[in-house]
Amino acid sequence: MKRSCIKVLKKKGEQLRRLLLEMNLLDNSARISSEGNYLLLPLTRKPEEAELNELPEVFELTEHEFKEQKGQLKLEDLLDNVPHFEVVGDIALIEDDVAEPEKVAHAIIKVKKNVKTVLAATSPVEGEFRTRRFKTVAGEERTSTIHKEYGARYHIDLERAYFTPRLATERSRILEQVKEGQTVVDMFAGVGPYSIMIARKSPDIRVVAIDKNPDAVEFLRFNTELNSVSNVEAIEGDANIEAERFAGIADHVIMNLPHNAKEFLDAAIRLCNENAIIHYYDITPEEDLFDSSLKLIEEAAMRAGRRMETIDTRIVRSYAPHQLNVCIEVKVI
Ligand code: SAM
Repeated sequence: MKRSCIKVLKKKGEQLRRLLLEMNLLDNSARISSEGNYLLLPLTRKPEEAELNELPEVFELTEHEFKEQKGQLKLEDLLDNVPHFEVVGDIALIEDDVAEPEKVAHAIIKVKKNVKTVLAATSPVEGEFRTRRFKTVAGEERTSTIHKEYGARYHIDLERAYFTPRLATERSRILEQVKEGQTVVDMFAGVGPYSIMIARKSPDIRVVAIDKNPDAVEFLRFNTELNSVSNVEAIEGDANIEAERFAGIADHVIMNLPHNAKEFLDAAIRLCNENAIIHYYDITPEEDLFDSSLKLIEEAAMRAGRRMETIDTRIVRSYAPHQLNVCIEVKVI
C-alpha cells in the first residue's frame, strides 16, 4: 500500500508519531517502516501547508510502499456498512438515521481508541446560534470535549455552541492570507477556530472576534486562554451593531454565517479599510453558485460608495443535494 509519509530520524520518531496521531494524520492501517537511521511514518493524507508548519522541522515528506498493519482491528471487520461519522475531540458524531446505531457506536469505540463517547444528532443545525441536539448512543454521557486542530485546542460543548471539524482545511486557507500587522474581524466567531488559529500565527495580528451566542463567547474566551493568545478581543453581541465601533479597521473580514451572511454585508463593508478582503460564506444552489451572492456584495459596496473586486470563488464542501457551501473572496476598495 503506497502512502504519503514522513521520514524522520529514529530518535525524533516517537515525538512525531504522537503528534501525527493527535492530528489524525497517522495511518494506523499501514505498518511503520524503517530505512537505516530513519523511520517512515504513514499518513492518512498529504498534510496541508499549515499542518506541516505545526511539525518540528526535522522531517522529509515523501512516499513509500508500506505493509498492511496485521491484527489492527478495522471498522470494516465489525460492520457490513461503515457509515459516515465525524470525530470532535474524543466524541464521534453519527447521524440519527444510521442503521443499528448501538452496534455502530460500540464498533467505533472499540476501533478508535481516542473515542470515548458516540453521539447521534437528533436535530439539524438550527436557530440563530446554529446549534444541534444530541443523544448519547454509547460511552460517556456528555457533549463537551477538547478538540485539537492544527496544534490549537478548543474546549467545545456541541449542544451549546456551533463547531465543525470539516472546515479545518478552509480555515488554514484563510490563515495563509493573513499577514503580520494586519487586523481581522471574525464577525461570527463561535468558539474561536478561525480567530484563535489566526491569532496564533503572530502576536502582531489583531483579531476582533464577535458572536451573539453567550455560550460560544464563554468558550471563545476560555479558548484564548487555553491557547495562550492575548491578541483576540472576544465580544458578545450582534455583529451588525458591534461592527459600528470598529469601522475601517479590518484588513480581513470573516463572515462564516452561511444562509444569513447577506444580512450583515453593510456592516462588513463598513469594517473594511482600503483594500480589505471579505471572506464571505454562503449556501448556494448548483445553478447559481456565485453570481447572486456577488451581486449582493457589489450592491452593498456601492451603497457605501466603495468598489469591489472579486479575488476568488470556490466550493468549500457539499451541504445538501444540489446545495453547496461556497466561499467568495472580494477586495473592497
Ligand atoms: N466561525 C465559527 C466556526 O467556524 O466554528 C462559527 C460559525 S457558526 C456557522 C455561526 C455563528 O454565528 C454562531 O456561533 C452564531 O452564534 C453566530 N451568530 C448568529 N447570529 C449572529 C449575529 N447576529 N451576530 C454575531 N454572531 C451571530
